[in-house]
Amino acid sequence: MDHFHYRQGLLHAEEVPLAAIAAAVGTPFYCYSSATIERHLAAFRTGLAGLDTLVCYALKANSNQAVIATLARGGAGADVVSGGELERALRAGVPAERIVFSGVGKTAEEMAQALAAGILQFNVESEPELLALDAVARRLGKRAAIALRVNPDVDAGTHDKITTGRKENKFGIAIEAAPRLYRQAAGLSGLRPASIAMHIGSQLTDLRPFEAAFGRLRDLALRLRRDGIALERLDLGGGLGIPYGRETPPTPADYALLVRRLFGDLGLRLMFEPGRLIVGNAGILVSRVLYVKQAGRRFVVCDAAMNDLLRPAMYDAWHAVVPLNEPAPGAPLAPADLVGPVCESADVFAKERALPPLGAGDLIALRTAGAYGAVMASTYNTRPLLPEVLVRGHEFFTVRPRQTLEALIGQDRLPPWLSQRPAKGAA
Ligand SMILES: *Cc1c(COP(=O)(O)O)cnc(C)c1O
Repeated sequence: MDHFHYRQGLLHAEEVPLAAIAAAVGTPFYCYSSATIERHLAAFRTGLAGLDTLVCYALKANSNQAVIATLARGGAGADVVSGGELERALRAGVPAERIVFSGVGKTAEEMAQALAAGILQFNVESEPELLALDAVARRLGKRAAIALRVNPDVDAGTHDKITTGRKENKFGIAIEAAPRLYRQAAGLSGLRPASIAMHIGSQLTDLRPFEAAFGRLRDLALRLRRDGIALERLDLGGGLGIPYGRETPPTPADYALLVRRLFGDLGLRLMFEPGRLIVGNAGILVSRVLYVKQAGRRFVVCDAAMNDLLRPAMYDAWHAVVPLNEPAPGAPLAPADLVGPVCESADVFAKERALPPLGAGDLIALRTAGAYGAVMASTYNTRPLLPEVLVRGHEFFTVRPRQTLEALIGQDRLPPWLSQRPAKGAA
């Protein structure tokens, strides 16, 4: 459920007509709905009521300061995967004791930064990382609370590029190796084993992989308990899918029932790292049609492109396309390819999609673009990063202005041998 809807024939974000935002900031732009973000956080928590939980929003899905701050106000923590994201979380007001640091390649500098900030937990993904973190912590006179991120070797049944819990994926530590590594960690004075972490993939639309993975996680928790490892919590990761089109992912309530059944009796705090579920449907990408090109097929060329929203090119993702002006009832739908201006054949948002009549100047929205949208944008083709706008009720605010060409090109530097103008007479 989201708060983007037609009202008197015009697509609104909450109470704000999107055409008004387009007039203010130009196109293309990202628009996020505060009410939708808050609603998804609440929906995720409702089923877990009564359990001791901490929801650590996975920042990588959408790391705009205003989005993080909205969630921090709602009491969410943060799951970060870089020193940059750690800084973003802290600046947006997430308390350090609600921050968990994930990722396979943390540098010593990032570890030191996180230890100095006093974060809750490091999710460690390999034995060398375990030793490196121990060394950094001892050097700083600290003890790092850790979870080992275990890989349960479960196929999440999602797109290959977003599955993470199989043996051949680079993520985590084989679950069979975990007991030995926990014993080793317990003997290192810079570390304090406090938790087990797991994250098997993204956009899961079936509970069964979760059930299989969580069962293994439960067995491991009981085993470690017998081994005398004093766990305080479990980190169940993120990955719950959302409806982009016709998918019917499990509801947060179904997911919560599973969690309760498998972990409710352990007396451990339960942590979660949802990203997409919180912000995916809370964002849209608004674009303007530049040309309609009839070349055997109908190509609708719009001013947004794959550099602005990479998901269709990268993950074959399907995004609903809707005009900002509601089509008349019974308006004819005909197949069209919605494409951007970037010089790549992969710059296609929708192929042979049944779309209403569209003409140059019309505004359209790609829905469900709040997660892994703006954060994955690049400036390919020297296209400035898009503005991001946050709506709350009747208000809207530009939470990131459009990048200027000066900011984009002005970062380049000429070496001395190119900075003099060519001598007079040079060809
Ligand atoms: C990406 C990621 C998440 C968030 O995944 P979603 O599918 O967006 O919920 C959570 N935890 C880790 C470790 C991740 O890498």
